[in-house]
Amino acid sequence: MSYKLNISTRKEALIKLMDEIIKHENEIIQALYEDFKKPPFESIVTETSYIISELKETIKNIEKWAKIKKVLPSLLNFPSTDYIVKEPYGKVLIIAPWNYPFQLAISPLTAAVAAGNQVVLKPSELTPKTSAIILQIIEKVFPHQHVKVVEGGVEAAQKLLAQRWDYIFFTGSAAVGKIVAKAAAEHLTPVTLELGGKNPCIIDETANLKLAAKRIVWGKFLNAGQTCIAPDYILIQEEMKSHFITFIKNEITNAYGENPKNSPDFARIVNEKNWHRLASMIAPEKVITGGTTDVEDCYISPTLIDENDLDSELMKEEIFGPILPIITYKDEKEIDKIISKYEKPLALYVFTDDKKFAKKIIQEHSFGGGCINDTIIHFANKRLPFGGVGHSGIGAYHGKLSFDTFSHHKGIVKKANWLDLNLRYAPYTNKINSIRRLLNWL
Ligand code: NAD
Repeated sequence: MSYKLNISTRKEALIKLMDEIIKHENEIIQALYEDFKKPPFESIVTETSYIISELKETIKNIEKWAKIKKVLPSLLNFPSTDYIVKEPYGKVLIIAPWNYPFQLAISPLTAAVAAGNQVVLKPSELTPKTSAIILQIIEKVFPHQHVKVVEGGVEAAQKLLAQRWDYIFFTGSAAVGKIVAKAAAEHLTPVTLELGGKNPCIIDETANLKLAAKRIVWGKFLNAGQTCIAPDYILIQEEMKSHFITFIKNEITNAYGENPKNSPDFARIVNEKNWHRLASMIAPEKVITGGTTDVEDCYISPTLIDENDLDSELMKEEIFGPILPIITYKDEKEIDKIISKYEKPLALYVFTDDKKFAKKIIQEHSFGGGCINDTIIHFANKRLPFGGVGHSGIGAYHGKLSFDTFSHHKGIVKKANWLDLNLRYAPYTNKINSIRRLLNWL
């Protein structure tokens, strides 16, 4: 079958893809800027360099990851040799979102190609410049349509979802994730769903507040808060609140100056629709700092909100923008109550110097992944699985796990013929005790 390309062909394609990305890096950065004024520094760190490093790692390891893996045989099957064969699923559909439109399209694509699949990629229609450059690069690297880009919006995605696929990899909202899961169920197609959620950021009374404020400002306002693992809300011990607000205000000014609108390092909201959604959630009487908006420029300043109503508009859904509500708690019981109000989030962050507290938070709550005393950076370690749980997603990827995600793992027993023990064959008379002893012994 055409999709089962041999390893050297897959590797050649990936090298070509990497070369094209390197050659077009400035155009990609420019496209991202035109789409939503993504700061070039952020484009390099979170999009192009990230992908180039992932491609390098995949190219370096592809033989190792694809290799047949021997495992210890079971004595029940003695004598045998047992191993795992990694097989491409076949035809893979990848649907990407707009918020990291290059990275979140090319990263799964890299792994799907490495694992030997045929791919159709649908980039987001909300970042058309980036979508166009992705199309241009893919058409050049894969002229024979082993990998194909289909541009377009909801209708294009629906048409693709109506077809039969061997694997679907979707990154986007939980609402669309459900549509994808339903379409996949029609053909029992396996899926990875990389979704979002309301990510809590807990700060206790032992935390280093100044450093916490710096790291939270970076993680929250990167990409103007349009990051699936951005802290969604702060949950701070009530006595620390006023101190923390002083620090966080300072850190916003340190990062983006007195007027973040003039900062080259602060992105814009992707479109007017999202701008209206976000702007309407800002209650002026609750603004601690920020709250400045400009629809013409799709601008919303880094905004802190003094929140005490868990039923407010801001606290209903994932915010996905540069608005950060600060909520206080009295004790641990209250933390549990607030976090449990929401679906399992994609990320959770806890800032503390108390090891026991950190351990308890990590163990007692279910979430995709996260950090102790930082935000976002768990994404950067390719040895960590990246994915959600419950409503924040199904499956995970990154590094070798990405290759494994796009491979069916076939378990094989190669039985030897030089010995054939009679124990398992009928007639079973008088064999049960020997079998029991053997099973107990194993
Ligand atoms: P979205 O769900 O609106 O769109 C994602 C993709 O699905 C786009 O390509 C879009 O064209 C397509 N789509 C939209 N509506 C569709 C429909 N009815 N049927 C079929 N396809 C449809 O998401 P978005 O606005 O692009 O991205 C933001 C969301 O993605 C946030 O919830 C964020 O948390 C999440 N996200 C998750 C991750 C992750 O890795 N877990 C990464 C980035 C973004």
